[in-house]
Amino acid sequence: MSIFETIKQSLNLIDVARFYGIEVSRSGFTSCLFHNERTPSLKLYSDHFYCYGCGKSGDVIALIAGRLNISQFESAKIIMNDFSLSSEEMRVTAKPQIQLSYSEWERQTIKLLNQYRDYLKHFERTYAPKSENEPISDIWIESIHKLPLIEYYLDILTFEPLEVRQEFLREYVKQLDEIEIKLDEYKRKFRLERK
Ligand SMILES: [Zn+2]
Repeated sequence: MSIFETIKQSLNLIDVARFYGIEVSRSGFTSCLFHNERTPSLKLYSDHFYCYGCGKSGDVIALIAGRLNISQFESAKIIMNDFSLSSEEMRVTAKPQIQLSYSEWERQTIKLLNQYRDYLKHFERTYAPKSENEPISDIWIESIHKLPLIEYYLDILTFEPLEVRQEFLREYVKQLDEIEIKLDEYKRKFRLERK
C-alpha cells in the first residue's frame, strides 16, 4: 500500500484537520484554506473535503498540504510521522536515494521525466481547445506550462557535464518528488495509449 493509501485508510479527515488546528463547526464546515472568505464554506467529510465557495476538493493529504503550505508528498510524510503510521513503501522509498549509485539515480530520473513528458504531450494534444467558445481546460494549461520546463530538465540531464547534472539532481529533489507524485496520479486517472 502506498503512504497515500495508508493515510486515507487509517485516518478520519476531520480528526486530522483538528489535529493541525483547523477549526471545524458542528456541521463540519471551516473557512476555506484555498480562497478568501468570511463565511465558512469548506465542508469536511470523513474521507474528503469540498469547498462550496471555490469548488476545491481533495483528500486529507491535500487538505494538510494546503494548511501547512507544503507539497502533498511532504504533507503525507508529516501525517505518517505525527500519527505514527508506517508503511512498506516508506521503508522502500526511503532507501534508494542513499543506496542507489549516482548513475542509477540519474537513469531513473530521466525515465521519470520522459514518462511525465509523454503524459503532458498527450494532454496538450487531447485537451487543446477546438474552438474559441470552448472553455479552456486546466489540464491543457498545465501541459503547455510544464512541457518547456520538463524539456529543460531533460536537456540538462542529456547534455550537461557530470558535475552540473549531479548538482541539478541534488537541488531539484523536491521538484522531482512532486513530478513523481503527479505521474502516479496521472497513471491512476488516465490511460495513455502506447504508440
Ligand atoms: Zn474555497
